[in-house]
Amino acid sequence: MQYYNTLAFAQQLDAEDELAAYRKEFCFPKVNGKQVIYFTGNSLGLQPKRTQSFVDEVMEDWRNLAVEGHFYAKKPWWDYHERLASPLAKIVGAKPEEVSVMNTLTVNLHLLMVSFYRPTKKRYKIICEEKAFPSDQYMLQSQLRVHGLDASDALIEINKRKGEHFWRTEDIINKIKEIGDELALVLIGGVNYYNGQVFDMEKITGEGKSVGAMVGWDLAHAAGNVELKLHEWGVDFAAWCSYKYMNSGPGNASGIFVHERHLNQADIPRFEGWWGTNKANRFLMKPNFEPLPTADAWQLSNVPVLSVAPYLASLTLFEEVGMDRLIAKRKKVVAYLEYVLLEIEKEVGGSFEIITPSQRGCQLSVFLHGEGRTLFDYLMKQGVIADWREPNVIRLAPVPFYTSFEDMYQFGQILKKGITSKVQPEKQYRD
Ligand SMILES: *Cc1c(COP(=O)(O)O)cnc(C)c1O
Repeated sequence: MQYYNTLAFAQQLDAEDELAAYRKEFCFPKVNGKQVIYFTGNSLGLQPKRTQSFVDEVMEDWRNLAVEGHFYAKKPWWDYHERLASPLAKIVGAKPEEVSVMNTLTVNLHLLMVSFYRPTKKRYKIICEEKAFPSDQYMLQSQLRVHGLDASDALIEINKRKGEHFWRTEDIINKIKEIGDELALVLIGGVNYYNGQVFDMEKITGEGKSVGAMVGWDLAHAAGNVELKLHEWGVDFAAWCSYKYMNSGPGNASGIFVHERHLNQADIPRFEGWWGTNKANRFLMKPNFEPLPTADAWQLSNVPVLSVAPYLASLTLFEEVGMDRLIAKRKKVVAYLEYVLLEIEKEVGGSFEIITPSQRGCQLSVFLHGEGRTLFDYLMKQGVIADWREPNVIRLAPVPFYTSFEDMYQFGQILKKGITSKVQPEKQYRD
């Protein structure tokens, strides 16, 4: 499709966009009285307007029913989380029984490691990507310590090639083959938080399984963003947070996936609690644990209803729209953003570089050569909410639910002004 860097063209794309109306479903911050251009839905998604009523309902039931709300609330609390399994399963490509919602992401990765990282004398190594999200690095290192293993021996990081900004699938595959029967686990972020790369999850999972390893994915930047087929790909386990592309509020509950081949196993190593036991007998307070036949067997505590409610609200939006339509718009809006960036670069001279590879989701990471930080600060002051990563990268995620094509055009104009007025940085700071 031929793109144009004009307001009229951007508005025409908005007029043709069947998801355009969903923009009104979200609350936008304002800067200088103007609605912002929001590029940080990969960090914290905007609040859906309908979320308030889901939270209010719980508050009201708690106010009026107190403990009786566990069974008599409008959406009874004791099994509140079960309402999320089916819509979530569609988003991550799973069966509803393979999905659960609980805790937060890093906590869940630890809990899943208890079950799926079972090092032996021979098979104990873990493959991950270099410079994984810090919480994942700490998680892996501390897990190794718990098992009395040394990260310098047991943790194998896949590097990018010198001078390249992305990981090559073949390098990961070759490393899996090389480690072979010493490999216990492959655990990688499905979409990298820094460069926005989407890993070839299907291929990597297949290779990991073929050497007899477990394969897990951290889907923090993937869930609600890219196409996932966790069940079909044979992934052993996965976890994600709900506050990035899933728009369910700061620090909110995480989702997990456990492949059905691991369900219904009473003797699987697992940390257990009363919410993972057979519902029918739960309140008989019996001493023996009877695991639920679903991923809910990994649940420990009773449901944090006030955080699961916003997650459910957000999932109703995903139900209405569906991942296919969301992904179709995402591709188009990211392509348009890329086009606008390249046009601006042509107009003002090469001062930045898109480091996100073609295997991408919603995010474009842009390396700013020269006065990066000054330019970034200028953008923020003009109501462009993006984020800054050292040494010189801004990440732009035009989330398809609430980003318009006109946003992309307007962003381009602001960027151009920021770059061309760079010669007078003091002036820029004062406006
Ligand atoms: C956002 C993110 C996290 C955050 O973990 P929390 O436990 O939710 O604080 C972890 N890993 C990755 C890859 C992330 O992108």
